[in-house]
Amino acid sequence: METPLKQIYQIRIPLPFRLNHVNSYLVQDGAWWSVIDPGLDTVITEKSWVQTLHQLHIKPSEIRNIYITHFHPDHYGFAGKMQRWAGAEVLASRETYALAEHYYSQEQGERNLQFYLKSGMPEVLAQEVAVLDSQLLQQISPITGTRVNLLEGDSITLAGEPYEIVLGGGHAEGSVGFWNAERQALIGGDLLLQTITPNITYQYEDDEDNPLASYFKTLHALQRRNIRTVLPGHGPVFQPQTGFFESVIAHHKERLNHVLDIVQEAGSAGATIYDISLRLFSKVFDNDSARFALGETSAHVRYLERQKLLRVQESFGKYAVYKN
Ligand SMILES: [Zn+2]
Repeated sequence: METPLKQIYQIRIPLPFRLNHVNSYLVQDGAWWSVIDPGLDTVITEKSWVQTLHQLHIKPSEIRNIYITHFHPDHYGFAGKMQRWAGAEVLASRETYALAEHYYSQEQGERNLQFYLKSGMPEVLAQEVAVLDSQLLQQISPITGTRVNLLEGDSITLAGEPYEIVLGGGHAEGSVGFWNAERQALIGGDLLLQTITPNITYQYEDDEDNPLASYFKTLHALQRRNIRTVLPGHGPVFQPQTGFFESVIAHHKERLNHVLDIVQEAGSAGATIYDISLRLFSKVFDNDSARFALGETSAHVRYLERQKLLRVQESFGKYAVYKN
């Protein structure tokens, strides 16, 4: 599908989740093509690419660059396979490679399970969610060929036009956006989405992490750029309306206040992160959304902990959250 940017095409790759697609972008530079975010490593992704390339008369060997906006499986998963298929270079931020290596390991499955249990998730559910995690691991093909690092402020050419590499965080540290200053257009991965806010998630394992603070910082930096067009990782191309950034920030502030209220009500007994997530997200209908809700809740708890408004104490193998 064409986009407002000439020679940049949006390709919808199906995903086997409730969020049922990811947007890939195909970029033409003369005889060569680049792919941004090839998708999850599934049979359906592979079929979609075979079909798309066939329709557009592109040979796999004409794909020279595979860009990855962030390390999440729905964007990154198919990169290794496509790289071997096309003989292309992979380009992403250092953080993306490092985070993929850290998270896509069997040990991470165990760390996830520990986090679910410590957060107060019932054991049966925690085990089921951990199974989902390990299934996801099967849908990521490792990158074995040439890796190029994208750095903040780097200048690259896409479809004959200059783009600046913009780095952001929150949804995924080391997220890359491609900024076309002339057209005020951002190919943004999941940095900015139109109808859903990017999931901000945190697991209590790294003392330094505060993803929500990182996302606020990213939003403020992007807000200053006067973005007119976003080519997002999910959903259609959109123009951020006046107040777009303010409303995303307000959404998170509201959620922060809600967390404070819930913890206040729990009083001296404290609340588990899972308890808070159940109150915060009334629409948790499956294991996948239970996992998202828990991570999102944890990121908000962490932010408030860093603000010294809450404290999190581990006792008897569970985190209890108290109001300060
Ligand atoms: Zn995504």
